[in-house]
Amino acid sequence: MELWFKEEQTPHLGIVLRVKETLLRKRSGFQDIAVLDTLQYGRALVLDGIIQTTEGDEFAYHEMLVHVPLLTHPEPRRVLIVGGGDGGAVREVLRHPQVESVFLVEIDREVVEASRRFLPGLSCALDDPRVTVVYQDGAEFVAGAQGEFDVILVDSTDPVGPAVPLFRGPFYSAVARALRPDGLVVAQTESPFVNGPVISQVFGEVRQRFPVARVYLACVPTYPGGMWTFTLGSLRYDPLGPDTGLGRGRPVPSGLRYYSAQIHAAAFALPPFVAPLLGPGP
Ligand code: SAM
Repeated sequence: MELWFKEEQTPHLGIVLRVKETLLRKRSGFQDIAVLDTLQYGRALVLDGIIQTTEGDEFAYHEMLVHVPLLTHPEPRRVLIVGGGDGGAVREVLRHPQVESVFLVEIDREVVEASRRFLPGLSCALDDPRVTVVYQDGAEFVAGAQGEFDVILVDSTDPVGPAVPLFRGPFYSAVARALRPDGLVVAQTESPFVNGPVISQVFGEVRQRFPVARVYLACVPTYPGGMWTFTLGSLRYDPLGPDTGLGRGRPVPSGLRYYSAQIHAAAFALPPFVAPLLGPGP
């Protein structure tokens, strides 16, 4: 018998993946957690019926979430990841030898446990001595931090349930305070094809609080529309400027499959249907 998993991405659009085996199905205190072994993309982490990451395309998302900001900051030493319980972002952050400590603040311990057990290719760096895993609401954690981080990455679920505050203004005010004076933040901000208002909302909040605000793109086939946005807010460095890590000649980590110096620049070129989501220019 053929088994297919269907994610309803909107009431009128979905993605289906043929399933070889259901490896995990459980309910945590926060969400429904599943790990499915799919024939097209390998193992997939699914939360409340929504694909979070798959072995087949996670590199595109994680490399772009992480290396754009970490090669924008000239000396990223202390990094905070909000969400990201699968561990893929931690793995990419630790490719940068300048990084001394990474805090992963994930609300749901059971996501981390599921990833440790079933997604070793993503969770492989969680036991590195530079990593501290904190089980707490990311908005709460950030509100308690002051001038501590060079880079903050928001690797959250979609803006429903506990992730809602991570897309709102007060969170970005707290992020700006939690950063060192030349720090920067990147957040995953959904698909321009199906979640345009989310991009407009987060970009508007970031632009009010950060002197440099930009949106960039990556292709992630299992996310709605296949095209994904990241919103960057920076207190000093412009990702396209000459004084970034990349501009100062810091090497790109070896072995990457999506990010490159050329992609770093190209990802900020927005198609004419995306640019208006950012509102009128300054
Ligand atoms: N790459 C994914 C995407 O774009 O869909 C996100 C993956 S990661 C697994 C998302 C994680 O964010 C989940 O494990 C979820 O538990 C966590 N999360 C949601 N809201 C949170 C919050 N307020 N604080 C900390 N973690 C949160």
